[in-house]
Amino acid sequence: MKDLIIIGAGPAGLTASIYGIRSGLDLILVEKLSPGGQVVNTFEVENYPGFIDPIPGWELMSKMEGQARRLGVEIVAGHVKSAEKDEDSSLFKVNFADGTVIEAKSVIAATGSSYRKLDIKGEKEFTGRGVSYCATCDGAFFKDKRVAVIGGGNTALEEAHFLTRFASKIYLIHRRDRFRGVKILQERVLASEKIEPVYDTIPESINGSEKVETISVKNKKSGKESTIPVDGVFVFIGFDPNTDYLPENILNEKKEVIVDKRMKTKIEGLFAAGDLRSESARQIVMAASDGATAALEAYDYIINSGA
Ligand code: NAP
Repeated sequence: MKDLIIIGAGPAGLTASIYGIRSGLDLILVEKLSPGGQVVNTFEVENYPGFIDPIPGWELMSKMEGQARRLGVEIVAGHVKSAEKDEDSSLFKVNFADGTVIEAKSVIAATGSSYRKLDIKGEKEFTGRGVSYCATCDGAFFKDKRVAVIGGGNTALEEAHFLTRFASKIYLIHRRDRFRGVKILQERVLASEKIEPVYDTIPESINGSEKVETISVKNKKSGKESTIPVDGVFVFIGFDPNTDYLPENILNEKKEVIVDKRMKTKIEGLFAAGDLRSESARQIVMAASDGATAALEAYDYIINSGA
């Protein structure tokens, strides 16, 4: 039996593990794939404090992981299927896909979020054959080629700018007439000769035979439909929280975990930290802060509740 199980090893989970282990808690940090979370797919991070120059996403996360491991955090590979509290014992049972069950006094859910899909014809079919959700991973395949980037938030703007290193032309297709992303990123994108913003436009289908050849779009204002020849489509339209293993009664209508400002859910001893929680600003520094808060609260819960 553990004091604490932290599920998810992105910035929130890794920071929670650093704070938890330094408080003397007997804990494990569980990760489905490899530690680091979404940030490892970010080319460069320039708004995480402590680094004068932009730092590659993978490097920032490998430093966080190294810090946790140096302090003695055990990172366990596993796919969590459910985390339930037994009201009689007040202990949590964390059930893994391979049938393993681990009990703990307290749980921090820090499983972040996954890429939202467009859900249009051709998207699934051409994933890996021209459709991508990661410019850092796949950008180099599009040297001197034409690509479409879908979205108008910070991710779409950052990634469209990153793709100018490779692609000859980038259509930045956004469903409204102004971007959601911050001004500095908008300015960078609009200053690039390679990027052509396509406003008020929604993608309707991604087409081709063996691989992506065109994207069909519709202008929302004029109703005009057109087809743009492209070799790739990068989709950056936000994220959905990874919360399917958690009890329904702690989630809101967007499937985010409802927490108070101490990262407490309404189930005592169960905390949530990072991108999966309600009202998250989805910043690395804030996920880290959530993780620290959740670990301090878990420590208080374990000490004061006699769990
Ligand atoms: P986001 O801010 O939620 O933006 C999603 C974008 O996709 C919006 O422009 C939205 O349009 C569009 N969209 C959503 N569903 C769509 C659909 N079905 N079809 C077409 N377009 C659709 O997501 P994000 O850009 O991935 O950012 C997520 C969070 O991470 C944000 O809080 C962001 O600030 C943060 N982030 C920060 C940084 C940074 O600080 N450097 C970098 C990346 C991300 P509308 O605008 O019309 O809603």
